[in-house]
Amino acid sequence: MSNELTAEIIDQLYEDSVINFVASEKPRKSIHVSDLTSECMRKAWYRLNDYAKDLKDFKKSLPLAHGTALHNIINLGGIEHELTMFCNIHNMTDNYKEKREMKELDIINSVKGSMDDLIEIDDELIIADKKTVKKGLPKVAKPEHVAQMNIYKLLYYITTGVEISRAALVYIEKTSCWERHRTCMVDLQPIEDIRKFVLDKLQILDTDSPPPKVVTFLCPWCDYYTECNPSGR
Ligand code: SF4
Repeated sequence: MSNELTAEIIDQLYEDSVINFVASEKPRKSIHVSDLTSECMRKAWYRLNDYAKDLKDFKKSLPLAHGTALHNIINLGGIEHELTMFCNIHNMTDNYKEKREMKELDIINSVKGSMDDLIEIDDELIIADKKTVKKGLPKVAKPEHVAQMNIYKLLYYITTGVEISRAALVYIEKTSCWERHRTCMVDLQPIEDIRKFVLDKLQILDTDSPPPKVVTFLCPWCDYYTECNPSGR
């Protein structure tokens, strides 16, 4: 076989490896923190109601592959790393402690989230999360990331009874190959305010018809682009 043809086959194997990695991700039935912080709640509703996902091509598979690589490599060496929590927000109970079967769980009132790192500095616990940006590091944390940190605070409080005051967002620039980075500190909200925010969001998902479309530049990356048809009626 010619060099040209062999190289073409190997290039395709490279792209397939990324596509297959993303396709092997297990389907989620629970509500995740990212579902509640996304501008569009409709895509989470499609997933919870078992609508068919679009198949992802190479380009659309890359963001998840990048995120997974970053999280596999960077461990801030705190007291927790990739801590998964799963709590009923209505009852303020820890689903893992309750040890119930999935089918018995109150899915619509429960939220699952995985905190990147929990670090201790000067006897203070601080939630830390890594975020990649394409180019240009933000000077302050983005609102959707602040909301995410607040929900981690709530989940950690339900799980352990410990209330955390601050979080750190570590922004990492992709175009500098992870060389440029900046940490933005965030003061977290009181528990009751976060709980109300989460319960209001969960209510939007507890419906028989899809929530309104919120069309943004992220729509082409949405798993339910075909089903939703964001530019249609
Ligand atoms: S395509 Fe856009 S508007 Fe439609 S569900 Fe996805 S994110 Fe929401």
